[in-house]
Amino acid sequence: FSYPIPINEPVHSYAPGSAEREALKRTLTQLKSEQIDVPMYIGGDEVRTGKLVALNPPHEKKFLLGHYHAGNESHVRQAIDCALEAKEAWANMNWEDRAGIFLKAAELISTKYRYHMNGTTMLGQSKNVYQAEIDSACELIDFLRFNVHFLSEIYKQQPISAAGMHNRTEWRPLEGFVLAITPFNFTAIGGNLPTSAALCGNVVVWKPAHTQVYSAQMFLRILKEAGLPDGVINLIYVDGPTLGKVCFSHRDFAGVHFTGSTGVFNQMWKTIGENVSNYKSYPRIVGETGGKDFVIAHSSADPQVVATALLRGAFEYQGQKCSAASRAYLPSNIAEEVKQLLIAGVSSFKMGSVEDFGNFINAVIDEKSFDKIAKYIDNAKASPDATVLVGGTYDKSQGYFIHPTVIEAKDPKYVTMCEEIFGPVLTIHVYDADKFGETLHLVDETSPYALTGAVIARDRFAVELATERLRNAAGNFYINDKPTGAVVGQQPFGGARASGTNDKAGSMINLYRWLSARTIKETF
Ligand code: GLU
Repeated sequence: FSYPIPINEPVHSYAPGSAEREALKRTLTQLKSEQIDVPMYIGGDEVRTGKLVALNPPHEKKFLLGHYHAGNESHVRQAIDCALEAKEAWANMNWEDRAGIFLKAAELISTKYRYHMNGTTMLGQSKNVYQAEIDSACELIDFLRFNVHFLSEIYKQQPISAAGMHNRTEWRPLEGFVLAITPFNFTAIGGNLPTSAALCGNVVVWKPAHTQVYSAQMFLRILKEAGLPDGVINLIYVDGPTLGKVCFSHRDFAGVHFTGSTGVFNQMWKTIGENVSNYKSYPRIVGETGGKDFVIAHSSADPQVVATALLRGAFEYQGQKCSAASRAYLPSNIAEEVKQLLIAGVSSFKMGSVEDFGNFINAVIDEKSFDKIAKYIDNAKASPDATVLVGGTYDKSQGYFIHPTVIEAKDPKYVTMCEEIFGPVLTIHVYDADKFGETLHLVDETSPYALTGAVIARDRFAVELATERLRNAAGNFYINDKPTGAVVGQQPFGGARASGTNDKAGSMINLYRWLSARTIKETF
């Protein structure tokens, strides 16, 4: 069985007056009238603990979407037990039948629940309609379909046999359970991390960020409708320390599929290291973590191309992407023009609720994030090394709104040029247009991360030089484009250094991590 390369899910535009726009608006109204009561899903059962946590839209923080039921240590244990119980039947199922479930889920999202996936993402994570569509509809569907294709390519790989023998590779799932820990910023990542491991025959305990529960439970309900057997993916809502304590000390812990902060990932490695002799197998540790993603413009760059890459790369989804452009290096010959374009661009952005489809900027995810971002902005306002060119204001009275902000740093190592902010803040530094080579060096050594980056230039020698010198500075490198918006199957995504294990989401590289090969030799 070989599954052909799928076609990427077409992006819907929700143009004014279109039927799809009206349908999505109706879904938003319906979702807001529901007062949802969200259980955990353990062993196929809905588990309600009565420990209720409010679900509020970040842009309308007093509005109640509903509640979810938080779990404790015993729920983590139950989830692991149910996963292990489901394991044998799931691992032994024909893989085409496993694949059928995820392909059906993709189809259900594409045709029946598109507006629900987008609606829950828009309201729960304050994503505008376009950002939701490319995430909770298209990218999620693509992950589900492309992973089936990639796995069919892996299964085909077999060793050669010599005379008198027959050699085979058996692509087994891992022994034990896989833990998936997913972030708020991409519903598609929330979908991909548990399902990629499960497709390979693994059983999963899935803990989404508490700020992603609304769309995560919607996806799990779709998986159930598509026929996912009980216990294969168990969705629980617990805090990180409780989850880690139970999972990382469990003998059957087989691996973790993580997207989140570098700090949490580092702590995870340490805890797993301390427990290593207790595990049946060495666990797979797969993570996509932080970024401090750059755009370097060359003196030959078109100022408009630079400005567009920065405005979109830095401010789409309020800059809450690991891939967001957050530090830019502008050559002195075009810097002034680019700055004016950035100021004009930011000033034209409309900010407000996701329910008004004209708003490009929405709220940041929560108060903690808001306070952290606001502090960087306040420090920049007070610093002699930085100037706020545009933005710099914020207001959390109704929702967590921060004006897109552009800071100019005289010092290329100013704090906002180095640290990940995860918000709508872009810092630019103007360099002497003759010093492109030196600046490439600066780009490489300024941050510990290496997720994404871009060079903007018309001069092909400059493109070549940047591509070569920045070889290790980004796992996803863009030429004359923004450094965000990787598409499954087109730009496999991930970075090294402090940005993660670079096991490219949406590729065969990632799926290999959820398989443990057995070599079989038969002698005739
Ligand atoms: N894959 C996303 C992109 O290319 C970023 C994922 C993330 O923020 O974790 O923009």
